Amino acid sequence: MTIIEDQQAKYLIKSLQHHPSPYLIFCKDDGVEWMNQSAQYVFDTTEISDIGIAPIISHGTSKKIEAIGSSFQSDLELSLRKIKFLLRSRVHEIPLDKEESFFLIEVLAQSEAALDALKNTISCLENDRIDMAYQKQYDLATGDLVSVETLLRLRDEKGDIIPNDKLIPLVEGESLFSLVVLASMQKLKEVFEFKKKKKLDFTVYLNVSAYTAMQENFCNLILDFVKENNLNPGDLGLEITETAELEDRSRAAEYFEKLKKHGIPLALDDFGAGYSSLSYLRDLPITLVKLDKDFARTVSEQDTQELVRFVVTICNNMELGMLAEGIETEEQQKTFLELGCHKGQGYFHHRPQFLKDFKEEF
Ligand code: C2E
Ligand code: MG
Ligand code: MG
Repeated sequence: MTIIEDQQAKYLIKSLQHHPSPYLIFCKDDGVEWMNQSAQYVFDTTEISDIGIAPIISHGTSKKIEAIGSSFQSDLELSLRKIKFLLRSRVHEIPLDKEESFFLIEVLAQSEAALDALKNTISCLENDRIDMAYQKQYDLATGDLVSVETLLRLRDEKGDIIPNDKLIPLVEGESLFSLVVLASMQKLKEVFEFKKKKKLDFTVYLNVSAYTAMQENFCNLILDFVKENNLNPGDLGLEITETAELEDRSRAAEYFEKLKKHGIPLALDDFGAGYSSLSYLRDLPITLVKLDKDFARTVSEQDTQELVRFVVTICNNMELGMLAEGIETEEQQKTFLELGCHKGQGYFHHRPQFLKDFKEEF
């Protein structure tokens, strides 16, 4: 089947050439035939043959197409050199004649920024520009180290760090992001080896988005990781970060309960901001509440102090740990202690460090 010979297809292709959404044309036997500029941008290749597209996994297309075209949503398995991932896409099935049709695949991305994020993530995965930084969390009264948060560090082609806030919220809903999770867990192995060797006792927290946590295999993935690396209860913890609401609260509770039973504590990140709401404290087996950075920034203000007191009371009554994020000054630290919040994290104590420098601090 050759699409290019067909006049209507030619017309369609031309009109989509500069369309902001990435479009690919896929032929059943030959893989990708064509892609528009936007797709070329995302996949960072001029050679169409570099992209392999596996057969469409599932779709609900009707056998008989009477309209100009029909479309359906489908997760599409893409393989770019060695890496396979799924992309949310809309597949347009466009009939050429009674017998044949071709598939126009539209990668679903909402904005230019989302395309940038997709491109950057793919490029980081392909070129192993994924690393982790480690930031210490302290007992504010004694100065003792209590736990460590791991923070993703992705680099662009020039080697500059891509800000997490500009990338993660845009790609964490994509299946592609699970590859980032796997890559970052691979990096975490080193810190656990170091911890074991030095007989250090602290929890290493991994940030997990609601999307990731709710994926089918996530719970088992974590349990396997704990087993494979011979981790003890309390070695690994999860910080659930909220940029989207946890859709199925009871299922989430079930997953986290299972993880908790296996010695993996759960912290609620960015509490008091965004979607992170009071009801999570009731519904999920949380052991640590992390107050959003914004509270530290404004903790000298009376109103903020009232809110912090309120959270302190709740945490005390529910026997939950509480930690203030983003502490940058001694003054802020002092205020949190006075308000009854005993754990903290921020540039005043410790800046996130890459593993090599982090190790040298022990
Ligand atoms: P978060 O988990 O709330 O992480 C805290 C952020 O605040 C980090 O930014 C950290 O570098 C920064 N920070 C620490 N101390 C201070 C301070 O004293 N002042 C200020 N202004 N900032 C401070 P980062 O590393 O850019 O991460 C941003 C967000 O990206 C994280 O917020 C988290 O939601 C997400 N994130 C980071 N790593 C991962 C990851 O591995 N997986 C997932 N899913 N999300 C991650
Ligand atoms: Mg966090
Ligand atoms: Mg936070």
